[in-house]
Amino acid sequence: MMQENKIIIAGAGLVGSLLSIYLSKRGYQVQLFERRPDMRKEAISAGRSINLALSDRGIKALEEVGLIEEIRKICIPMHGRYLHNADGTTAFQPYGKEGQFINSVSRGELNKKLMDLAEHHGAEIHFSEMCKHIDWQKGEIHFENALNHKVQTVPFNRCFGSDGAYSAARLTHQLQHDRFQYQQYYIDFGYKELCIPPADNGGFQLEKNALHIWPRGNYMLIALPNMDGSFTCTLFFPFEGDPSFASLDTNEKVRSFFNSTFTDASALMPTLEEDFFHNPTASLVTVKCYPWVREDRFALIGDAAHAIVPFFGQGMNCGFEDCSVLNGLIDKHAGNWSAIFAEYQQLRKPDADAIADLALNNFVEMRDKVADPKFLLQKKIEAAFSKKHPDKWIPAYSQVTFSPHIRYSEALVNGRRQEAIMQEIMSIPGIESKWETGEIETLILQKIKG
Ligand SMILES: Cc1cc2nc3c(=O)[nH]c(=O)nc-3n(C[C@H](O)[C@H](O)[C@H](O)COP(=O)(O)OP(=O)(O)OC[C@H]3O[C@@H](n4cnc5c(N)ncnc54)[C@H](O)[C@@H]3O)c2cc1C
Repeated sequence: MMQENKIIIAGAGLVGSLLSIYLSKRGYQVQLFERRPDMRKEAISAGRSINLALSDRGIKALEEVGLIEEIRKICIPMHGRYLHNADGTTAFQPYGKEGQFINSVSRGELNKKLMDLAEHHGAEIHFSEMCKHIDWQKGEIHFENALNHKVQTVPFNRCFGSDGAYSAARLTHQLQHDRFQYQQYYIDFGYKELCIPPADNGGFQLEKNALHIWPRGNYMLIALPNMDGSFTCTLFFPFEGDPSFASLDTNEKVRSFFNSTFTDASALMPTLEEDFFHNPTASLVTVKCYPWVREDRFALIGDAAHAIVPFFGQGMNCGFEDCSVLNGLIDKHAGNWSAIFAEYQQLRKPDADAIADLALNNFVEMRDKVADPKFLLQKKIEAAFSKKHPDKWIPAYSQVTFSPHIRYSEALVNGRRQEAIMQEIMSIPGIESKWETGEIETLILQKIKG
């Protein structure tokens, strides 16, 4: 006899682990099945990207499950972008108002703490178990053991697919669903992780409390700080052409390219050549699909529902917000899962689509525009106006990053409207010298009113 309160989750990454905490705390009997071995026992790579930026949407969810204080201990606040320009100059651009920051956190450490708390609340995690197939008629999920290849059949009443961008749960849902919408889009750029080690005394070799960017027009290098004094650098770079991952094919070419293009970083990267050829070049995909849910029995969540490119630092934050929204809906619909899943999808699908588009747009901003004086002036005008009229103008970046009460879909619409206003303001002759005048302020106020 199947228990009504039993829930199966495929994938114990960041989102699956967090979801299992929410559900276990509510009294559901949760079983997670994770393809990889237990990262707390075996030294395995935590998967994509060594560290990530945690911001207010993710923090809200971690607060709700009671984990934020633990996580803050392993976070490094990043108050803004630290630009390393091609001409050798540097500049610091705050992300938001004073006191607003995003956090660099180790993906592996965060995942381990989420798993610990999930188990503490009673969730069971089965490792090296790969979801292969879901039989909707029989109500069974098939998991294959990665070590002995034995397939076990697990009956389910309700299950979640949180198995990431290349979700097997999604595929089996898709293959047994008429008119399933699926869109997958790769950008022509890949990424590779590199390293700036700590200084000899264990300190940081670059400003610690910032996200470093070397914007170079078509491509960029970024660096986020780690607790041990190192920085994880990520090169976002074309796959083909010149320069590209394909064209940098010898140690000498790599070093010479870095010396001339990322001069100050290159000087801090003693293992550059080794890292470059040892670490994988990974691709960046956006996945949009629909429906995410199947009656009251199944839902996709996190990257399995909406993989996005990392340029807004929101993929995990969005997945954490999925869990928080879902948890609120369990309250609202008092355990009526048809209603919970229906509203979950209705709320989250437009928001996930919006952050996917915002993230793609932000690539151009990060790799190119942040080094453009006209763009910087625009941001300065917006920041000054927002400081004076905080109720009338929250910059688009802040809406996404520091304003969990604003939905991503609203932030997208608001941001487009603001951009249209700012384009008009920026086209005013002599704006460089008169942007601080009352005339410009009044004009913006008029344009907001429409
Ligand atoms: C380079 C890069 C940088 C990023 N930076 C940021 C950032 O700064 N901030 C941010 O918010 N987001 C960032 N992201 C996005 C973030 O990594 C993802 O959104 C997040 O990991 C999604 O979590 P998830 O649990 O849904 O998926 P995943 O983290 O991919 O976890 C899926 C889990 O499912 C397991 N699994 C896979 N297949 C199966 C299967 N068949 N059966 C069972 N288990 C399976 C996997 O082993 C994994 O443990 C970044 C992404 C990249 C690529």
